[in-house]
Amino acid sequence: MAWSPQKRKTLDNQTIETGAGFAALGITGQLLKATLAAGFAEPKPIQEQAIPAQLEGRDILGVAQTGSGKTAAFALPILSKIIALGTKRRPRTARALILVPTRELAVQIEETFRLLAKGAHVSTALVLGGVSRFSQVKKVAPGVDVLIATPGRLGDLMKARDLDLSETTWLVLDEADRMLDMGFINDVKRIAKATHAARQTALFSATMPPEIEKLAQDLLRAPVRVEVAPQGTAAPEIAQSVILARTKQKRHLLSKMLADEAMSSVIVFSRTKHGADRITRDLERDGFEAGVIHGNKSQNARQKALNGFRDGSVRILVATDIAARGIDVPGISHVVNFDLPDEAESYVHRIGRTGRNGRSGVAITLCDPSENAKMRAVERCGPSRRSSA
Ligand code: AMP
Repeated sequence: MAWSPQKRKTLDNQTIETGAGFAALGITGQLLKATLAAGFAEPKPIQEQAIPAQLEGRDILGVAQTGSGKTAAFALPILSKIIALGTKRRPRTARALILVPTRELAVQIEETFRLLAKGAHVSTALVLGGVSRFSQVKKVAPGVDVLIATPGRLGDLMKARDLDLSETTWLVLDEADRMLDMGFINDVKRIAKATHAARQTALFSATMPPEIEKLAQDLLRAPVRVEVAPQGTAAPEIAQSVILARTKQKRHLLSKMLADEAMSSVIVFSRTKHGADRITRDLERDGFEAGVIHGNKSQNARQKALNGFRDGSVRILVATDIAARGIDVPGISHVVNFDLPDEAESYVHRIGRTGRNGRSGVAITLCDPSENAKMRAVERCGPSRRSSA
């Protein structure tokens, strides 16, 4: 079903027939217009693979990370079908449910849905922890087309019968591996069970540990498997290095690095929330303005820090793994791992915040001798280069 590249390119490699790609995948009318207006001129590989299959009603098992274009890969077919159905909705129901591990990812996905649904009568709602429950109950009361939710709060609303998923015929599980890591797997299973038996399901995960393969087997029917990068490998355009440094040297090293203006947009990862606060404090003492996001910060504080980082007013964002998961900020020049993550796979997610959309990126890891075992685990997960400080 892929569109022909010859049709799109002239001999001097200029793109012609802009949008032919999405139309050839089956996206039409107002949805096609909004897709092009969003700046999505041609489909990304995951979209080419996943959109036609979902329009045909197939389930999807997607091995892909944030940055691959996976949001539009599931949003476009869902929107296409919802638009065709018209606006009739029943109270306290959701036609489509997108289940995600973090609040930030949920907000980002809702933005994409809104962008692509521009000009169509499609309602969206967010159900997340950390913000007012009352306003969420009110929003879903008349029924919504697309509900984007984190498992905890969604479970609360279901228990209180503020929401009924029995008519939900589209289910997307995004970043399933992270939901597993965060201990949501049983909630996810319960929620999936509460949806319509004849639903269409898509499961996306950056990695495929056995538990996720099993979940996919239980929830998906003869899925089409789409994969955009080999499992567990980092994007090739990221230059990775490791600096061997004692923990107490790390603060000084980081400040020295940040004096380089080439580090124009930097995300610094910390394994713990406490560590993230300490790094931020030390950076501020050393004269660097930095935002911080982690699970103990209020949703407003997290969104404010993220907005400042995204609009470029703050150059440095300090983050824990879970808070940073799924963040899509274009143009991050450097990722600094102030310490090694507990799980080797998180390393791949961390460095994947840079080197997006074909741009180059740099990932630097500061490694204390006590972290050698974790470093070896990362190296088994994907190759990296070593140098010493
Ligand atoms: P995602 O993996 O869904 O988070 O998407 C990563 C980024 O790619 C987002 O900033 C999207 O806006 C962008 N994007 C998705 N699809 C396309 C496309 N076909 N053309 C250009 N940009 C896209």
